[in-house]
Amino acid sequence: MIVAVDGPAASGKGTLARAIARHYGLPHLDTGLLYRAVALSVLRMELDPAVEADAVAACGFEDGLLADPVLRDDDTGRVASIVSAHPLVRAALFQRQKRFAQQPGGAVLDGRDIGTVIAPEADAKLFVQATPRIRAQRRHAELKARGDVTSFDKVLADIRARDQRDSERAVAPLAMAADAALLDTSYLSIDIAVSKALAFVEAQLSTRR
Ligand code: C5P
Repeated sequence: MIVAVDGPAASGKGTLARAIARHYGLPHLDTGLLYRAVALSVLRMELDPAVEADAVAACGFEDGLLADPVLRDDDTGRVASIVSAHPLVRAALFQRQKRFAQQPGGAVLDGRDIGTVIAPEADAKLFVQATPRIRAQRRHAELKARGDVTSFDKVLADIRARDQRDSERAVAPLAMAADAALLDTSYLSIDIAVSKALAFVEAQLSTRR
């Protein structure tokens, strides 16, 4: 069984994907980490993320990099949304995600194009949304807890810029699959959002059984 969870930055998709994976005892892949690892490699190799060949050269990162806490930084996320717009970068990461999705027993993946490109055959698909302002508040609180003093206005501007880049790119843009269930987490507690997400997944599974 494959569950696809897509949505913009700080929509809550990661939290929901982890909760769904726990509930069904499935492995989970945060695919944003792969693009973040490419971004961090580009920066460390002192290459230009906007140049496709440079970004492709950074796709052969070591698996150990996926555990680097710097991956979670906002700057890494910003550069990830630049490298992720290159078709050859997406192609280089495609098989790894596809293999994860198709492993025996199933998997939960979260990202931007799981329900549309990586696993259009998924048994359940969620598209998680929240207003830009609320997503910026969440991200700002997260950064503050880590001692990062970035201002709220900058976090909001970054979220808007990232939404625009992710939605307007030519290849695999952030988009809701036609058969996905839409979950707006703007005014939901985590517990309520998780129970709604599980109810959506159950409803989709029951129509496909
Ligand atoms: O989800 P996260 O914020 O970690 O993703 C970082 C960036 O990686 C996104 O802004 C997006 O540009 C890119 N990404 C993507 N496709 C995915 C997951 C992430 O393009 N499936």
